[in-house]
Amino acid sequence: MSSQDLQAYRASLLHFLADPAFSDQSHDWHEDGLLIVADGKVQAAGDYASLHATLPPGTVVHDYSGKLLMPGFIDTHLHYPQTDMIASPAEGLLPWLETYTFPVESKFGDPVHGAGVAEFFLDELLRCGTTTAMVYCSVHPQSVDAFFTASERRGLRMVAGKVMMDRNCPDFLRDTAESSARDTEALIQRWHNHGRSLYAITPRFAPTSTEEQLHLAGELARAYPDTFIQTHVSENEAECAWVRELFPKSRSYIDVYDSYGMMRPRAMYGHCIWFDERDRRRMAETQSAAAICPTSNLFLGSGLFDFELADKAGVPLSLATDVGGGTSFSMLQTMNEAYKVARLGGSYLPALRMFYLATLGAARAMRLEGTIGNFAAGAEADFIVVDPQATPLLQRRTGRVESLEELLFALALLGDDRAIAATYSAGRRVHVRSPS
Ligand SMILES: [Zn+2]
Repeated sequence: MSSQDLQAYRASLLHFLADPAFSDQSHDWHEDGLLIVADGKVQAAGDYASLHATLPPGTVVHDYSGKLLMPGFIDTHLHYPQTDMIASPAEGLLPWLETYTFPVESKFGDPVHGAGVAEFFLDELLRCGTTTAMVYCSVHPQSVDAFFTASERRGLRMVAGKVMMDRNCPDFLRDTAESSARDTEALIQRWHNHGRSLYAITPRFAPTSTEEQLHLAGELARAYPDTFIQTHVSENEAECAWVRELFPKSRSYIDVYDSYGMMRPRAMYGHCIWFDERDRRRMAETQSAAAICPTSNLFLGSGLFDFELADKAGVPLSLATDVGGGTSFSMLQTMNEAYKVARLGGSYLPALRMFYLATLGAARAMRLEGTIGNFAAGAEADFIVVDPQATPLLQRRTGRVESLEELLFALALLGDDRAIAATYSAGRRVHVRSPS
């Protein structure tokens, strides 16, 4: 290999090997570490002292000493068409959808508008250190084309899909069961596994789909078993009551999706708040994953995710912003609120666990371990450079920490986009914080 294909980065280095909630050897931490990247993939990660001797003479070592190098964050649930309506006031989910969401999403029939928002949205993700996201587009197929065109130009590993929605929504945003299935299949063929793009079959949520649409979504999920599925479930109580009315034969909200064959590996369910034991058990049995969206759940007053019961049942977990219901693109801010949601529910989330959930935990929940999420040899080199001295307060607090847990906790509680000094995707720098 020529030295041009080889890049090395020196910094404190952290990545995960297992879930800290269930393993004593969950992570790999090197105070003075080295990450070696060859052709956009991780070649080695470890101690600087032992690894630097393996570098061919003349290899440039990028020096990020004093900073932390870790895998890029993974945000498993957010809506790119809602970028322009983040932080819009409304009393709860259903009025918020009607007042803001639907009018804003209607503009995405225009591919030029979609392309413009997609560029801003991706800039913002990278500023926050998020290198992979599971993204809802709008009901318009061209909104998916606009998104993947933009993410592929930057070489990003992204998952996205066209919203399927054929009832209980304004006419100008309504597809039909047949058109949504036809469009979804065409988009799968165009984008799934094209470069680093992956497709998600995306019924918005059960109330906006007819039984026929859910049936066809389930058929697509069976026909294309390595695609993703993403939707919302059990977010707030009014919505759950509505689902009981619309689907009186279903035992529970998640059971609606289950009956159409949409619980399986690579199915990602947003929220999962108002679950019972059988719902949680079914998530674990089918290896369907939960996208926990704390800033959104607090903002809309939806409820508190129960970490303890989810862990007891073995539900695969991940963290997500749920922008525009969520109030920040930052996974650090998402951890901040996740911590408080856990406290209010009587459980405790160590910082190590939160960073795991935002990296390897999410990759596992998405069945992408080995591809993204940690620095295993051969994984795609998506990583971030985190600055513990990004703000005067962070500098003061992190200067006094006595353990890795304390350092990560301070970053999660006090950090945001300012703490991300640089973001790399497949070994290429895609964001660098501008000097303030
Ligand atoms: Zn959502």
